[in-house]
Amino acid sequence: MKTNILLVEDEEKLARFVELELVHEGYRVDKSDNGREALEKALEEDYDLVLLDIMLPGLNGLEVLRRLLKEKEVPVILLTARDAVMDKVSGLDAGAVDYITKPFAIEELLARIRAALKHYAAHPAGGEKESNAKEEEGILTWKELTLDDRRHQVRYAGHEIALTNREFLMLKTLLENRDIVLSRDTLLNRVCGYDYAGETNVVDVYIRYLRSKIDDVYDVKMIHTVRGVGYVIKAGDE
Ligand code: CA
Repeated sequence: MKTNILLVEDEEKLARFVELELVHEGYRVDKSDNGREALEKALEEDYDLVLLDIMLPGLNGLEVLRRLLKEKEVPVILLTARDAVMDKVSGLDAGAVDYITKPFAIEELLARIRAALKHYAAHPAGGEKESNAKEEEGILTWKELTLDDRRHQVRYAGHEIALTNREFLMLKTLLENRDIVLSRDTLLNRVCGYDYAGETNVVDVYIRYLRSKIDDVYDVKMIHTVRGVGYVIKAGDE
């Protein structure tokens, strides 16, 4: 069965070009040039992947993304003309698996699509996770903080802290590697799970969010910046 892709893009020339390339690669492609219509289509039919422009008539791409992922699990790659980091962060936080900035080389888009499909097949969001020894333990701690991987829950002194998926993954990676300074690239790779070609300052944005939700609220210094290198949570930090 052919892999089914929904391409949501209102720039007609670009949409036609991408469609031709995707069909040439053996994908089946549906197109939409309107956010509202795209959302309807994506909810109606089971696509294997959605390529989603952000600036769209009808309904903004980020809004399409949020509403879509509320209803079903599907890997979404955002196509964005904007360079604003916040847009990309919002998109990733809302559950997009990746984004690509226009203009892009078609080879890069194809590589991202392959990576996203492969990654998604290996770790379906919300699907039953394979249990392995590490996940059996499931709980990471630092001082009064506990991260329960199985329940996807973080608490400090018993208070639940609401984190987005990416924040949770970032914190988990740091906690799993206590006393080891992790570079921005390492964090990015670990958090995104595959070859991610975006800017590494996305990492700084997530660190800032984590600090504002944990360090600042509980008056602790959990995440340390190691200038020029990256970030670390120290095990015996007092
Ligand atoms: Ca557009």
